[in-house]
Amino acid sequence: MSTLSAPTGLLIGGEWVQTERRLAVMDPATFTVLAEVGDASVAEGLDAVSAAWDGFQSWSVTPARVRAEVLRRAFEIMSSELETCARIISLENGKAWRDAMGEAAYAAEFFRWFSEEASRIEGGFRYAPGRDKTIITDHRPMGVAFMITPWNFPAAMATRKLAPALAAGCTAILKPASETPLTALWVADVLQRAGAPAGVVNVITTTRTGDVSSAILADRRVATLSFTGSTFVGKMLLKQTAERVLPSSMELGGNAPFVVFEGADVDAAISGAMVAKMRNGGAACTAANRFYVHESLAAQFATKLETAFAALKVGPGIDQANDLGAMVSGKERDKILELLETAAAEGLDITPASTAPATGAFIAPYVVKDVLHGSALTTNEIFGPVAPIVSFATEDEGVAMANDTEYGLISYVYAKDPGSGVKLARRMESGMVAINRGLASDPAAPFGGMKESGLGREGGFAGIHEFLETQYYAVDL
Ligand code: NAP
Repeated sequence: MSTLSAPTGLLIGGEWVQTERRLAVMDPATFTVLAEVGDASVAEGLDAVSAAWDGFQSWSVTPARVRAEVLRRAFEIMSSELETCARIISLENGKAWRDAMGEAAYAAEFFRWFSEEASRIEGGFRYAPGRDKTIITDHRPMGVAFMITPWNFPAAMATRKLAPALAAGCTAILKPASETPLTALWVADVLQRAGAPAGVVNVITTTRTGDVSSAILADRRVATLSFTGSTFVGKMLLKQTAERVLPSSMELGGNAPFVVFEGADVDAAISGAMVAKMRNGGAACTAANRFYVHESLAAQFATKLETAFAALKVGPGIDQANDLGAMVSGKERDKILELLETAAAEGLDITPASTAPATGAFIAPYVVKDVLHGSALTTNEIFGPVAPIVSFATEDEGVAMANDTEYGLISYVYAKDPGSGVKLARRMESGMVAINRGLASDPAAPFGGMKESGLGREGGFAGIHEFLETQYYAVDL
């Protein structure tokens, strides 16, 4: 165990395995080492496959009711230890305390939702139209699920995969991001304490990501890949899974438009914008990336957003007085600073709305006005507290600009009333649309994207089906 109450070994077959090589976990607010965790080799990755394969033989036939009870206990344990979880998240990821607590609670909810779904997996029965046979459909667990998660929601991205997989009767090998492994190890420990049998949950942390992951994907005992991360890595993994025609669920990057149409309530749009942009310091795949505001409201919207940004206090996330924490690493902060330099070279006024500490991976929030659609801030996923504002003249123009991207995860629509909002939502090319609100994510809702934002859905009723195979029995009854 680290001083943060998180285990530091690999979890293989119910045992915490220490490795000779270690992976250092940094606190991005101070650039100091928080802990060292295991650094798995290819052989240890394959040990995890063996453990998950062995675990699957009994877990897949364990009554759904029993699987549900393990998940329910995990929900209860996690809910009673939210502060422990939030502390680990905030320290290794950098995010503000309020965001970390919000994530911990959201993450726990996936255990509750899928504990309820575990015992509701449906089958089907009907006669073939010619009455020559009956058609019975069954849903069976796919098998060993390999899961790769990003650093921006280290708890929720893990539970959004682990909970449906275990509910379906699959076993898991989780590979968390190298920047934030402690949260995933803590979540796995919760499942162990909740009674998940040996081999049902395995966790591999590694710096040899490509090699370990390729070996796991090539192993025929692995039945599915569930990936959350960048579109770039997702495409690379899809090429590998194509080799084995491996089912793959992909939750990828975003470039969410936040569109304020004529007649919308500007103050309500500002409240929504603060959530859609600033949750997680802007480091969310669902973060509002580009603000399109009708020309009649643009100046007012920009001034009010600047005032709201100016009030934000930036500093170590673990200090509850701060509204914005650190970016996950100096590298991630520098990517955002480079994007701002490009924007300045494009002639835009780049002035911070507030201040940030000089040491640590901090960045002040920025509102960038008079941005042209198509410039760097509108075509790149910013992943930080920067809000570019573009104005538009007609509804068609606003919709066209919003859809003019290869991504399609989420759109935010502010309209004069919910009815107009729904009409506009139908024109958005995204898997999710938040109408007159700044947050859409919910464990009970299907989360996922269109276009290059992904394949499949997590959460809701759909989430468990990413881990189930449909099997049809033709019988003469
Ligand atoms: P990333 O660089 O794609 O990394 C995500 C995961 O992929 C990490 O665990 C990483 O491991 C692993 N990885 C990297 N290279 C790999 C390879 N060659 N083979 C196998 N795995 C590999 O993304 P990120 O920077 O962590 O996360 C930010 C991105 O995730 C953004 O684009 C964001 O939009 C997206 N995201 C999407 C969703 C969604 O639900 N749609 C949710 C959250 C985030 P290492 O850390 O060891 O490199």
